[in-house]
Amino acid sequence: MKSNRYFKPLDLALKLGNDFLDTLDTTPVGVRSSYTELKSLWDWNLPQDGKAPEEVIEELNRCALPGLNHNQSGRFFAWVIGGSHPSAIAADWLTSVWDQNAGLYNCTPSSGIVEEICGGWLKALLNIPQQSTFAFVTGCQMANFTCLNAARNHLFNTVGWNIETQGFYGAPLIRIITGDQKHSTIIRALRMLGFGTNMVIQLPSDDAGRISVEAIEAEFRKDSVIPTMLILQAGEIHTGAFDDFDAIIPMAHQYNAWVHIDGAFGLWAAASNTYKHLMKGAEQADSWATDGHKWLNVPYDSGYAFVAHQDAHFLSLSQQASYIEQDDEARDQVNWNPELSRRARGFATFAAIKELGATGIEALVGRCCRHATAIVQGASELPHVEVLAYPIINQGILRFRHPSGKTEEYFYEKFTEAVIAAINASGEAFFQPSTYKGKRCMRVSVSGWRTNEEDVRRAVAAIGAAIKKASESIDIP
Ligand SMILES: *Cc1c(COP(=O)(O)O)cnc(C)c1O
Repeated sequence: MKSNRYFKPLDLALKLGNDFLDTLDTTPVGVRSSYTELKSLWDWNLPQDGKAPEEVIEELNRCALPGLNHNQSGRFFAWVIGGSHPSAIAADWLTSVWDQNAGLYNCTPSSGIVEEICGGWLKALLNIPQQSTFAFVTGCQMANFTCLNAARNHLFNTVGWNIETQGFYGAPLIRIITGDQKHSTIIRALRMLGFGTNMVIQLPSDDAGRISVEAIEAEFRKDSVIPTMLILQAGEIHTGAFDDFDAIIPMAHQYNAWVHIDGAFGLWAAASNTYKHLMKGAEQADSWATDGHKWLNVPYDSGYAFVAHQDAHFLSLSQQASYIEQDDEARDQVNWNPELSRRARGFATFAAIKELGATGIEALVGRCCRHATAIVQGASELPHVEVLAYPIINQGILRFRHPSGKTEEYFYEKFTEAVIAAINASGEAFFQPSTYKGKRCMRVSVSGWRTNEEDVRRAVAAIGAAIKKASESIDIP
């Protein structure tokens, strides 16, 4: 076995992977080199002659390491990224080793069966009706696309227009309503689907980012017959807020609207007895989008789309060709996914759900929420800190008051950015700035399974040290 061509590179990858994971608690969390420095580490010349596979892996690892973010670390709080569970990483490695093309059942039966199993498990965990159809896609961007594509098919159908054959030329109007705090991937999904961004009605939201129920109602009253796509959110990226599904969805259905929920991470609240009240009424929606690579801690890339209307999902994506043999009994992913050839994404999801079980997933959700609250709470006791939002789930936002005491937005912005830069330079934790409702802020996102009490303590200490450092070095006008 050791003489085959695979052994050495795979063996080396295993060793290097373990080395990487072993040092997560002691290595600086973020990348600390510039683009110029990082790009000089690589040989950019097109190789003329090949080399041994293990030498390739050695070179790749050596050049890549300084430019890798440690989002697997328990002190990575930027964006909503998270790490990966051990079994999910191992399953993902095997997925590459097996190299299955999971577009068709016939091409790789086990990949298809595992997606069917996991599709059912995910619906049960996320409280999505079992008769809904699903797709394992690259991420929530494509899950949003897949769901809104089904919505497009369905809504045009209701006015006697076949969008699949007739396209947009001369098509009737569709109204699209969403909130002003919608995720940017919603707008991109709509662009890819041929809806212009000027056509999207963006309604106001409250302080937490929840879309106004009254504004939706007023919009429906303005025109009660036009086919409408209403896009709601579970888990606003700064505050973690949830739209009021229980009030909105039955009302929207009275006007025959299609209701989609973007819940890239927030949908996972449904898996927790403590937090599932936030998802009340969400099961009535027409489609749902979420991620595996965020809160479930599955390796990239992994997103899930669910659709309550089987026909619309199928008709909007199904694909036939003379050379592809579809199965009579089993599910062919090609009919539910926007790709033909594709990675067998079910294996990593299968592993993560098996490793955790429903109780482990509930514990993971609860733990991340608790740690997010503890970081925001701990930071709130430090000088210069203002809490803009205490976590509803696993997201909170802070900002930092300038040492000069000036309260114009410009000074908050300068000092908040200086503090974040100082935390990241320390390597103790990693945060990113954002702007929420016109206010520059620091997001606290906890979605990694490894984050523990000690990480929380180190993170709060790092914020405190960075405030001190930034106060000493910033110009006081
Ligand atoms: C991350 C996120 C997305 C996009 O998900 P990707 O997996 O990055 O494609 C969409 N909506 C929300 C609310 C998100 O947090």
